[in-house]
Amino acid sequence: MISNPTHTNKIQTGEDYINSLRGRNLKVYLFGEMIEEPVDHPIIRPSINALAKTYDLAIAAPELASVISPFTGERVSRFLHVCTDAKDLVLQNKMQRKLGQLTGTCFQRCVGMDAFNSLYSVTFEMDEKYNTSYHQRFKDFLTKMHRSNFVIGGAMTDVKGDRSLAPHQQADQDMFLRITKRTDEGVYVTGAKAHQTGCINSHWMVVMPTMRLGENDKDFAIVGAVPVDAEGITYIYGRQSCDTRAMEGGTIDQGNAKYGGQEAMVIFEDVFIPTENIFMDGEYDFAAMLVERFTAYHRRSYVCKSGVGDVLIGAAASIAEMNGVPKVSHIKDKLVEMTHLNETVYATGIAASHQGYATESGAFICDSMLSNVCKHHVTKMPYEIGRLAQDLAGGLVATLPSEKDLNHPKIGKLLKKYLKGKADVPTEDRMRMLRLIENMTLGRNAVGYLTESMHGAGSPQAQRIQIGRAMQLEYKKRLAKIIAGVVEEEKKDLVVEELSGYFERVFKI
Ligand code: SF4
Ligand code: FE
Repeated sequence: MISNPTHTNKIQTGEDYINSLRGRNLKVYLFGEMIEEPVDHPIIRPSINALAKTYDLAIAAPELASVISPFTGERVSRFLHVCTDAKDLVLQNKMQRKLGQLTGTCFQRCVGMDAFNSLYSVTFEMDEKYNTSYHQRFKDFLTKMHRSNFVIGGAMTDVKGDRSLAPHQQADQDMFLRITKRTDEGVYVTGAKAHQTGCINSHWMVVMPTMRLGENDKDFAIVGAVPVDAEGITYIYGRQSCDTRAMEGGTIDQGNAKYGGQEAMVIFEDVFIPTENIFMDGEYDFAAMLVERFTAYHRRSYVCKSGVGDVLIGAAASIAEMNGVPKVSHIKDKLVEMTHLNETVYATGIAASHQGYATESGAFICDSMLSNVCKHHVTKMPYEIGRLAQDLAGGLVATLPSEKDLNHPKIGKLLKKYLKGKADVPTEDRMRMLRLIENMTLGRNAVGYLTESMHGAGSPQAQRIQIGRAMQLEYKKRLAKIIAGVVEEEKKDLVVEELSGYFERVFKI
């Protein structure tokens, strides 16, 4: 199915990875045109560079960004690893923070990682209930992925149509990805997945239901893997704020010329999934479990934003220095505030991983309460960090003339003179730093740093629902009533074994 012959080789370096993406049969539309080779498109390339960094980091820091595959015995990306202890979960977060620091954007590889970690345990439990063989099939698929060290994308978010209706109630049944035809060899699916991070930069894609399903939604309860260039798939590229700056030439105005994120809409028109790549087919009662497990992993994967935040804090501190005011007390205090917010995101994410626990399959999963708290912080704190960065940058962040003006034989000299900050700092450097802050708070990478922080892995209300479900108010009321003397203290009230849910993990020694 995959057209590029290099796919049969194991991908090791970022360069191998970039080459593996060439010459595929992808149907990608951008600005109303089909793109001949996405790898060479100036708007798409920064997103590929960001993902390539995950391979380069695995070589530069193998303990951090790679593992020995239990399936092949060879070193593969940590993004392909099924976590078998809390340390594995923690190391995912450390790798994510590092990659955020190195790229200043979304490196797109966590959705797949979190999807197959969830699928590993969900297929195991489905088999237990229904005597199916999804788990072994899924392990065989993972083995294949490990052999080539591929990028797997996870495609969950359906376009959803009328939000008040279940999939089977929609006027247009294609609002949720569904099975349209069955043969002895497999199934055909039709529908669309929205906001698909890194989909064009992946080798394979795993489609999954997006929410809890009922008995009438059986045809929507489909999980399966397809190569991204499978027959019947069309990608429509999501444009980003200031994206066409990449087509103007030059590197200053882009702010971060090398790295960017990627989201696209993926349309499936009767796409075939062979039986060997189907990991759920009709088990609607497991859809909610899959979504909840996925979010338990993915909402703490957003510690990636603390790595991106490190870059923005560095940019804010640098511009203060270039302006000659690094020691002014309110500026230092703002940098402290930004750091405090940034570390709060990291703290809750890494805590969710530390508090991970084993599922029946043996795969470890993150603590859902802390994971949701992490993601909920992420819907707010990067905005405040971004506000403070703009405060420190000054109005020039939004009024700066262009690179072409800077290089103009006549007015360039004037700009170099009048846009100077500290005498020993070249004006161009100051402009670059301001453009980086613009890029992360208003431009291309504000998509990743701000809006994706708001809506990725579920919008804020989705976390509040999960937090509300798990907050164990009855237990907390009992604590209050005992202390207030409303009820009498019993010895068993303090016994750790009596606890359940979140508190069971909090007090586990
Ligand atoms: Fe990974 Fe963060 Fe991008 Fe999601 S937003 S894919 S967690 S880098
Ligand atoms: Fe995301």
